[in-house]
Amino acid sequence: MERLRLIPSIDSLQADESFNELLQKETVSRELLTKWLKNIVETMRQQILQNQLTELFASEEEIVNYIMIELTRRYEQFVERNELQPVINATGVVIHTNLGRSRLSERAIEHVAKTARGYATLEYDIELGTRGSRHSIVEEYLKQITGAEAAIVVNNNAAAVYLVLKALAEDKEVIVSRGELVEIGGSFRISEIMRLSDAKLVEIGTTNKTKLSDYANAITEETGLILKVYKSNFAIIGFTEEVDTEKLVHLSSENNIPLYEDLGSGTLFDFKAKKIGSEPTVQEQVKKGIDLISFSGDKLLGGPQAGIIVGKKQYIERLKKHQLARVLRVDKFTLAGLEATLKTYLVNKEAAEIPTVRDILLTENEVYERAQVFIHEVETHVGGFSLTLKEGVSKVGGGTMPVVDLPTYIVEVAHNLLSSNDLAEKLRDWRIPIIVRVKNEAVQLDFRTVTDEELQTVIEAFVELGKNL
Ligand SMILES: *Cc1c(COP(=O)(O)O)cnc(C)c1O
Repeated sequence: MERLRLIPSIDSLQADESFNELLQKETVSRELLTKWLKNIVETMRQQILQNQLTELFASEEEIVNYIMIELTRRYEQFVERNELQPVINATGVVIHTNLGRSRLSERAIEHVAKTARGYATLEYDIELGTRGSRHSIVEEYLKQITGAEAAIVVNNNAAAVYLVLKALAEDKEVIVSRGELVEIGGSFRISEIMRLSDAKLVEIGTTNKTKLSDYANAITEETGLILKVYKSNFAIIGFTEEVDTEKLVHLSSENNIPLYEDLGSGTLFDFKAKKIGSEPTVQEQVKKGIDLISFSGDKLLGGPQAGIIVGKKQYIERLKKHQLARVLRVDKFTLAGLEATLKTYLVNKEAAEIPTVRDILLTENEVYERAQVFIHEVETHVGGFSLTLKEGVSKVGGGTMPVVDLPTYIVEVAHNLLSSNDLAEKLRDWRIPIIVRVKNEAVQLDFRTVTDEELQTVIEAFVELGKNL
């Protein structure tokens, strides 16, 4: 109780020199500073009542000191750090879902920044000076790249699946193989999305085998759609059977039922031609005659979050006209990022310019070079770390190509004064947080996902951390 009385009033804390110094920086308001003060004082009361930190709160001077240090810390946290912070991804997982999936190409970043800064022709026909359509912004590029008749872009691929089901199969039956009733990270289940869209799920075949006759037998007057879901995030191996897409195209068109494939990642770049995985390209799937195909903008494509649907004009028109298209529409930043990304594909520069494509294609020798630079620089400038270079594997991530191992080199780091978890924590707490893997009691760095510029930051972090231990 004695100590509680030592806490000054908010009024007198507001008169404190430190409070006014922070206020004069003009980056935060008096209201916000005062709110923090009240919160700090309240927390302090609780701590005093619970007899915590008693050694800190012995005199009024100490109490004020503590409050002002805490206030400055909050101020700095607020001014210098955002909740959404840029980080360095040293895990080697290219499409890291928790770290925002794909990073954009420079071309895309520039286009997004320019679009954000001013007004833009989002729904404006510049030739006619009249209202235009946001759908037309990237449709032409998508048609050219994929060979499809038409295209529409929505918020993400989950939204694309929902829109297609709702617009083409509401209150109708949708035929899906049991082997494709998948759950994708973040609790997106095909069966649930089906229920939400009021489409009736008709499961056919078994987990490992589905035949063309299973599809044919399930077709009724009520069938609205045949759905194929690309197994992007898992693999069924062993005694399996799946129906050739060509045969399914034939069956669906004979019965005048649209065939829709949720391709998941969906790539415009032929990774399998580079001996990486077996993902069919969107172009290949279009060529086979599938009526509608949807895929993500921020997985293998390497663009902003989006759900891209390409296919036959008659079906895309129905999607565009559906009320949900308005609900699920994308904003100008997404369209800007997507436009620049698609243009890069049109000029065949994706392998060099789109980070996701580039990083997946990176050879282990290129990663080795970066690892060598790191080891050399750290060893030259600071002691205490033990650095070991090892062969390892990187993952594509994002639930994409789960069975593909990308050969890489990994630097294992240990420090004689620090546990691996403590080192990982200090790296996360760095000015630009550095995210690493911790495995076998060691911090592991995979430089596949670290640019040369970021590499310098990582080196600086290790040198400074090492010197301050
Ligand atoms: C990732 C994925 C989705 C969801 O895509 P988002 O763009 O994350 O909404 C849907 N279907 C499949 C098969 C996927 O792999």
